Amino acid sequence: MPSMDPAGSQNSTKADFFARKQRIAQQRKSLPIASVEKRLVDEVRSHDILIIVGETGSGKTTQLPQYLFNAGFCHDGKIIGITQPRRVAAVSVAKRVAEECGVEMGQRVGYSIRFDDMTSSSTRIKYMTDGLLLREALLDKYLSRYSVIIVDEAHERTVDTDVLLGILKSVQKARSGPINQRLNIDHTKANNGDTENDSQRGGSLNRCQGLKLNPLKLIIMSASLDARGFSEYFGGARAVHVQGRQFPVDIFYTSAPETDYLDATLITIFQIHLEDGPGDILVFLTGQEEIESVERLVLEKLRQLPEENQTLKVLPIYSSLPSEKQMQVFMPAPTGFRKVILATNIAETSVTIPGIKYVIDPGLVKARTYSARTGMESLVVVPTSKAQALQRSGRAGREGPGKCFRLYPEREFQKLSDSTVPEIKRCNLSKVILQLKALGVDDIIGFDFMEKPLREAVVKSLELLALLGALTEEYRLSDPVGHQMARLPLDPTHAKALILASQFNCLEEMLITVAMLSVESIFYAPREKLEEARTAAKCFSSLEGDHLTLVNVYRACDELFEKSKIGNSKEKAEKSLRKWCKENFINSRSIRHARDIHRQIRENVEQMGLHIASCGDDMLQFRRCLAAAFFLNAALKQPDGTYRVLSSGQAVQIHPSSVLFRTKADCLIFDELKVVASILKKVCCRYRLLCWRTCSTASDDSDPGEGGLVQEREP
Ligand code: ADP
Ligand code: MG
Repeated sequence: MPSMDPAGSQNSTKADFFARKQRIAQQRKSLPIASVEKRLVDEVRSHDILIIVGETGSGKTTQLPQYLFNAGFCHDGKIIGITQPRRVAAVSVAKRVAEECGVEMGQRVGYSIRFDDMTSSSTRIKYMTDGLLLREALLDKYLSRYSVIIVDEAHERTVDTDVLLGILKSVQKARSGPINQRLNIDHTKANNGDTENDSQRGGSLNRCQGLKLNPLKLIIMSASLDARGFSEYFGGARAVHVQGRQFPVDIFYTSAPETDYLDATLITIFQIHLEDGPGDILVFLTGQEEIESVERLVLEKLRQLPEENQTLKVLPIYSSLPSEKQMQVFMPAPTGFRKVILATNIAETSVTIPGIKYVIDPGLVKARTYSARTGMESLVVVPTSKAQALQRSGRAGREGPGKCFRLYPEREFQKLSDSTVPEIKRCNLSKVILQLKALGVDDIIGFDFMEKPLREAVVKSLELLALLGALTEEYRLSDPVGHQMARLPLDPTHAKALILASQFNCLEEMLITVAMLSVESIFYAPREKLEEARTAAKCFSSLEGDHLTLVNVYRACDELFEKSKIGNSKEKAEKSLRKWCKENFINSRSIRHARDIHRQIRENVEQMGLHIASCGDDMLQFRRCLAAAFFLNAALKQPDGTYRVLSSGQAVQIHPSSVLFRTKADCLIFDELKVVASILKKVCCRYRLLCWRTCSTASDDSDPGEGGLVQEREP
């Protein structure tokens, strides 16, 4: 049975299989949460809302849904839904749980994330992203298929989690009241039974009238030990704490600030590898691009070591990595080898990777920031909070005493903020508002948010949606554009670009563009082959800009793939595509992901009945559609050669990787604003020895403590 063997090893024998099964059963039994299974189930039975906090790795995500399933919470074919802020977590945890249950993925245990649904009518334990459950609420506003919904990783406070909490609060209230009352309750206090909206939502209200709805059990799980905020939000809901085990972790700081943290990371990896005892290394980096460049550098440096020291296995993990690659980080390293896992902050609390003894933490994270004044959102690399730094170091002490290397001086740690600001306070809200409107919430400011977004941010985002034609003069969803935009699981600007393109006969090109814009780093340029990479990239360049360049790359890949498929298996065609990508310095993982997304958005627009056609060589229509959708991201060339964003007056520059970097068009539109932080500056003193200062030991107590369940103090 393939799902039993995530490594895909063809040779695993029956004995291996049973040994693994036994090992998994033992691992499950030894998790801290296992000792409180019965008490937890009782807590869920007796409380409709329960807040569970617990150390990362104690078994909340993988075990609780199984306990509830076994306790009969899926009677009448109902589903236990578990939401995750991250795609990778939803997929990897679902795979693990399917394996623990000994079932095939998509049967009893499944997952559903944007553009990838692995569930069936038999699925009872369903892992998904919080964003996906929000979309489900569009079609079934009582979420009537679910008996239990677990909002996991709530401490992350992503914008989707926050909105979901508000929606679930009202769904739960609606499902707890007497049947006739329930039907009048909506997600917003201001809603007054908008029948037009209900029919747009597929008449879910009508469908519900014949249904007997059971109360919804709502569980909020968080790794942060402070449950007060959640408990207060849910009217003083019961909170319990699952006690985990934590071995002591020695924390090391650098004696002086590091000017190049990637370089410092590399030095630290090899210092541990050559001088420290066995144990895997977990490195926190900020994104796919950075992970890939560190991966190349480690491999390059590894080749220079004596053969007996070439025993590192480098494994990346980030959200757009194909799932079979993601699963590799959970497999033990080959005998005699040490794993180095290069991860984004996904490995902070969302997934627990066994075997980690060393953590390298440069202290940075990629975060969204938003300026309500300019209406611009950008991705910025910023310092982590103290809470994040503590979570990261904790990953080294899961299975035994560990070490954490923070690549900054101790005094910098003291300056970090205590916790991260919820995303809802620092992002563009237009996508969320579009969804809330589609859910029937018209008064956005009046919506029951756990923490209200800034009023100016709401106003700015409403303005954007109105300019895109998604709202009427009364700020309701417009027909058909607003409703069509809400149906597409995309950023509103991208959704608008597709709708426009369908009217101007260039939807083929726009579908490709939107798919390519949805993935990170199509091109890569290794330091040692910069010139070769630039020459290769030129073959695809379009003088008309990066969007058309992306279309060229996609079409070249597609053509090659289709050609290689003739007379060959799919695997063989994929192999030649990978080879071709490598020769052309194109990221084959990103292309695969873009092809996947393309296929699914195409299905979406087909279902919506949009007209799909190609504009052939007439790119003018296509560029007009881009300009009409991205008009707020238009920048005009200034007499001194710099650019200014027309809508906000903000000074910007063309990124050196753009095909327009040298041409300098008079006016251009852009997709993304990157803030280049000074911390990214490179210095050339490589492979020098870093000086460490041991600053604190988490605890001298080597007794990891027993698992247990204690009640949190009353809020
Ligand atoms: P929590 O949600 O409390 O942080 P989890 O339920 O995610 O904890 O993890 C419990 C245990 O399951 C951890 O010890 C982790 O190592 C193990 N685990 C989770 N996913 C996998 C996987 N894909 N492969 C192997 N072990 C896993
Ligand atoms: Mg978890």
